[in-house]
Amino acid sequence: MNDLEIVIGLEVHTQVKTESKIFCACSTNFESPPNSNICPVCCGYPGVLPVFNGKVLRLALKICKALNCEINKDIYFERKSYFYPDLPKNYQISQYKMPLGEKGYLEILNGKKVSINRVHMEEDAGKLIHKDNYSLIDFNRTGTPLIEIVSDPDINSPQEAYDYLNSLKLLLIYIGVSDCDMEKGSLRCDANVSLRKKGATQLGTKVELKNMNTFKGVRAALDYEVKRQTIVLNKGEDVIQETRLWDTQKLKTVVMRTKSDAHDYRYFPEPDLLNFYVSDELIESVSKTIEELPLEKKRRFMEKYNIIEKEIDVLISYSWLAKFFEEIIQFYPKPKDVSNWLIGPFLEQVNNLDKGFSAVKISAENFSKIVQFFTEGKLNNLGAKKVLSLSITTNEDIDTIIEREKLVQVSGQDELLKFVEDVISSNPKAIQEYLEGKDKSIMFLVGQIMKITKGKANPQVAKDMLERRIKK
Ligand SMILES: [Zn+2]
Repeated sequence: MNDLEIVIGLEVHTQVKTESKIFCACSTNFESPPNSNICPVCCGYPGVLPVFNGKVLRLALKICKALNCEINKDIYFERKSYFYPDLPKNYQISQYKMPLGEKGYLEILNGKKVSINRVHMEEDAGKLIHKDNYSLIDFNRTGTPLIEIVSDPDINSPQEAYDYLNSLKLLLIYIGVSDCDMEKGSLRCDANVSLRKKGATQLGTKVELKNMNTFKGVRAALDYEVKRQTIVLNKGEDVIQETRLWDTQKLKTVVMRTKSDAHDYRYFPEPDLLNFYVSDELIESVSKTIEELPLEKKRRFMEKYNIIEKEIDVLISYSWLAKFFEEIIQFYPKPKDVSNWLIGPFLEQVNNLDKGFSAVKISAENFSKIVQFFTEGKLNNLGAKKVLSLSITTNEDIDTIIEREKLVQVSGQDELLKFVEDVISSNPKAIQEYLEGKDKSIMFLVGQIMKITKGKANPQVAKDMLERRIKK
């Protein structure tokens, strides 16, 4: 194994966010009932003419630019012919000889620039749903715009493939071209993997891997395949060029087809669509819409804010959250405290909202007050979380909520004294235990104070007072 080098290339298909399909006006809505978003064009009736959806070009250009690709401005489509039940036309309109983008790269977290071979536009096929002894077909997906992103065989471990996929997904979400939801099939990945002697210039025989539905699945399938090929090579045998499927039940790859059944796709230029040129103005205007990319943002955050890397990774994992974070610190410039509240209580509450971030109404200014009041002791943890829950989807003023709900934390020793004495006189057993060395009993007593003050006491002040009174 030690003298072998792993060589991996990845092919990612992503559905881009358009209202309508790539060559007709049918909706791309994923929720629609089966076979309701179809028309003669996407079902390939004879004599119909496709019309190219310009939005697909803009989104594809955005991907190319974000991946540092050179753009081929002369655009034409080709037919990729094959027969399969989910493809009603018996050909797929795609780009072959002249992909929209070429020779780009994606920088991944470890700083490596994985080179991108090509980025091209094409249409998706329909979806087959296999039942026990019959299959169903849904043509809603037929003609949905797809962008295929093919890396060079430039990835050297299953973990690096996993990092590449996560970096690519985050990038695509950041630039707003796709929701990258693997469950809905809007991001799919195939891999090819081969081994060669370290230092060899020629690639080994590659095996193509399909049917991996998660990034972890891709990593596991590659791990398995590397081990399998190592054993084959160490026995002095040859790896067979074939396509293998990842079996998610047995956690192994199984042969799907060998090279002898390889397709000849008979590519030829699509005669029903005209060639056209992409203008420099269009490329320029699309480039301007690309904001700071995830990796740049991460580096800037690391430099600018005194927050640990793990927290920065969470903040930048949603562009919305990173932006909100920077808005809040305009009002309350304590990044560490703001980040704690965003990653902790805020994300926890967002996860319980049906619509996630899109349901959040609280303004940065209002949020900053919660963090400030908590940090300065006006609100305790419980009170601050309650205020947040009342304002998160309403943006109701924080001061108004605190006054109405009487949530101001009681930190004054004079105000707390009565409660402390009450708790001490009514819990002799806990006090005895504490004096005998059971430290936990003090927290029970603090809990009692929180209970009778309805959560308003400052727990730290209450704890200090209890300790002092008991030891007297
Ligand atoms: Zn259609």
